Amino acid sequence: MTVFVFDLDDTLYEEITFVRSGFRAVAGYLSQEFKVSANEAFRKMWSALEQKGRGSVFNEVLRDYGLETQRNIRKSLSVYRQHIPQIKLLEDAEQVLQRLPEGSAYIVTDGNKLVQHSKVQALGLYPRIKKCFITYRYGRAHSKPSPYCFQKISQIEKRPPADIVYIGDNPNKDFIGIKPLGFRTIQIKRGPYSNLKLSERYCAEAEVDHLLEIFDVIHQWKV
Ligand SMILES: [Mg+2]
Repeated sequence: MTVFVFDLDDTLYEEITFVRSGFRAVAGYLSQEFKVSANEAFRKMWSALEQKGRGSVFNEVLRDYGLETQRNIRKSLSVYRQHIPQIKLLEDAEQVLQRLPEGSAYIVTDGNKLVQHSKVQALGLYPRIKKCFITYRYGRAHSKPSPYCFQKISQIEKRPPADIVYIGDNPNKDFIGIKPLGFRTIQIKRGPYSNLKLSERYCAEAEVDHLLEIFDVIHQWKV
């Protein structure tokens, strides 16, 4: 029996949809608090994201409105982190989870504890999955590529790494830490890393374009 472990962001749903939903929540907050147009504030955030990346979006939009104070930046960030995300599972993620016995799969994800938890809630992953490991709960040192949470799964399931497969999208960190220990790895080719070319030790054993293909991959490993 294979134990299925999935990454969350850009594996089971599109992370950009979370960003969009968070920006909408912050735009709503700014509109309520400062009477700016929510649509305009959203557009400003989106173009700041496209031009400068995620790091300074709230600074940019607040500066634009002459509202860039530490308090407003902090407040925007907390609205972003605490909003109820409007996100949904990708169709193939939905299909793959339906094919697995309920409550059997795991998730291992990095990222802010509250944010990752609210994504899991919004996606309705419980009780379909058994457990979501948010690595930061165990200390930053145990975030990917650390094998820590994967070893925990191996202990819980009493299965060797060879019976555990991790499906993720980011070759920078998803596979390199666990491959040497014998965990099996599959890259789902989607999101910002789908065309990333890294050396062999970073790469998953197999790549798929659609999550349902993982069953064929695993079947081939066994024959
Ligand atoms: Mg990911």
